[in-house]
Amino acid sequence: MAASGRRMGESIVRRGVREEVNVIKGIPTTYEGVNFRSRTEAAFAAFFERVGWNWEYEPVDLEGYIPDFIVRFPAGPLLLEIKGPVEEVALAESKVEVSGWNREALILCAPNRTPEVGRLLEWHDGEPLWGQAELFRCLSCGEVSVLCRELSWRCRACGDGWGNAHVGDYDPAEDWAHACNRVQWRAAV
Ligand SMILES: [Zn+2]
Repeated sequence: MAASGRRMGESIVRRGVREEVNVIKGIPTTYEGVNFRSRTEAAFAAFFERVGWNWEYEPVDLEGYIPDFIVRFPAGPLLLEIKGPVEEVALAESKVEVSGWNREALILCAPNRTPEVGRLLEWHDGEPLWGQAELFRCLSCGEVSVLCRELSWRCRACGDGWGNAHVGDYDPAEDWAHACNRVQWRAAV
């Protein structure tokens, strides 16, 4: 092996890859009597409560994994997985597809990242199809709901909606901020 020809004064500069660290993730948090793995999950529960979504935390064992939440809407259950980075989302999509769950599913990244809040799964002829998920205010039932941009704009809460006449504006920023505050206040007690 050739000896290193590096001279004095030379240095290798490694450019540190700065990772985005979610500081509220990973702190076990109790909210509404439920023990969550992280404050992020508890904040989502508080958010669902705020917008009137009937949530259950880690409610079922599927093949290979336990989903974070199921939200029970009158029009049907929605499996809900909380995820951050893109690679986690891809992994979560494949987990849901092979889990035996054959209803709709939502991988939610952050409700305050608008308009896209995550990925929504629909089944068409037995094939799982994912599209861009967006929150909206349903003008038929008045609830905060979610639609799939490329697939069905049907309201997941009431089941109404062909076309877009039922789709009203909804900005989740205030509800999300309220949910985060609520969870942090609880954790400090
Ligand atoms: Zn609706």
